[in-house]
Amino acid sequence: MTDNDKNTKLPDLVVVGAGLFGLTVAQQAAEHGHSVEIIDVREHIGGNAYSYMDEETGAEIHQYGAHLFHTSNKRVWDYVNRFTSFTDYQHRVYATHDGEVYPMPINLGTINQFFHAHYTPAQAKALIEEQAGELAGTDPENLNDKGIQLIGRPLYEAFIKNYTSKQWQTAPEDLPASIIKRLPVRFNYDNHYFRDTWEGLPTDGYTAWMQRMIDDPKIHVTLGVDFFDESQPFNKKAVVGRVPVVYTGPVDKYFDYRLGDLKWRTVDFKQRRYDEGDHFGCPVMNFVDADVPYTRAIEFKNFNPERRESQNPDKTVVWEEYSRAAGRDDEPYYPINTADDQKLYQGYKDLAAREPQVVFGGRLGTYAYYDMHQVINSALIAYDKQVGPLLSK
Ligand code: FAD
Ligand code: UDP
Repeated sequence: MTDNDKNTKLPDLVVVGAGLFGLTVAQQAAEHGHSVEIIDVREHIGGNAYSYMDEETGAEIHQYGAHLFHTSNKRVWDYVNRFTSFTDYQHRVYATHDGEVYPMPINLGTINQFFHAHYTPAQAKALIEEQAGELAGTDPENLNDKGIQLIGRPLYEAFIKNYTSKQWQTAPEDLPASIIKRLPVRFNYDNHYFRDTWEGLPTDGYTAWMQRMIDDPKIHVTLGVDFFDESQPFNKKAVVGRVPVVYTGPVDKYFDYRLGDLKWRTVDFKQRRYDEGDHFGCPVMNFVDADVPYTRAIEFKNFNPERRESQNPDKTVVWEEYSRAAGRDDEPYYPINTADDQKLYQGYKDLAAREPQVVFGGRLGTYAYYDMHQVINSALIAYDKQVGPLLSK
């Protein structure tokens, strides 16, 4: 620590990362009367949920990939509604396979179109059970077997196998079955993607929502600074041990990768502009075949049909998503989470437990595949159980 560091006036709490975990903890701390400094290496708040308006089309672009809010957790729903209202958007996804467009997640419409049939729910169930029979009665641990068990081999090979390989850059046999449990299968024509009690998009956009969370004079935000850069006042050396810290960056980076690198997947986005009002006719088109290099394409305008008046009727913008393994300098998006990664993470978790003044949270800090509502919930709990008690010492 330099003399400069010692002279920096410290707040009650330093939060590293202005994503939803950090913002929720900061909001709670300020509400309980504490001063907070939030730092983020990026030039904006919001973490991966950040969005901005595209001038040409009037589309709200989710810069780090499409973000749809949904939850069945009443505490989280009540909490987020303090800062924003939500539109009545309901997520529906379509998938292009072999020159045809199918509804996703797999439902009776998908099944009947795929088999050129008019099965009833009972007939479709019986067919899938027969096709899944090779793995009946087992409890598969890997995604490949789980997929076959859930929907039978033909549908699995058409809609899941290649998409999953493209998305995770890992053979489905080496991925945990838990990933596929996120994708429901329905024996009716219901093609709502999510089943949660509440769903919608923030009425004035993600960034306005998150700005309101920290609209408090007790919260100060410094952007464009890295926690590990010792030339800035709120760096690791200067603050840890002096004030409580909430750290939401990568846990392996905090410990200088001393046990090894946790594996992540990142996504590259390719933007395409079209001289037409609507390119896909829906917000998300998955491309489930191996010959299309991207996993899905997002047409952001279509997330906000209630904004048609302020959108350009003749132009649209689409982002294609290309998935690949992340290096240290890439944005880590999805934890790959093989058994080896889990073991390695356990090692980091043990190290983290020996840092009593630092609370590790969020997707990166706990190496977890969290949705926004889960991150907010875990941040509210972390404040109650860990951060609040540290602040009242
Ligand atoms: P982040 O948002 O990642 O925030 C962490 C912050 O820490 C970042 O801003 C980062 O810059 C900062 N940081 C890291 N290291 C440092 C450092 N050394 N110094 C300073 N700052 C640092 N959730 C949903 O509910 N619905 C969806 O549809 C959905 N879609 C998603 C699609 C994609 C492609 C991705 C990647 C995620 C998606 N999510 C979705 C998940 C959602 O983004 C997360 O749950 C949530 O944003 C995580 O918040 P967080 O605070 O944990 O992390
Ligand atoms: N998935 C798939 N085909 C699809 C959509 C999803 O195989 O058309 C699988 C894939 O393994 C993916 C998982 O289901 O990782 C979860 O998909 P979801 O769209 O819920 O995840 P997201 O990428 O939005 O977090």
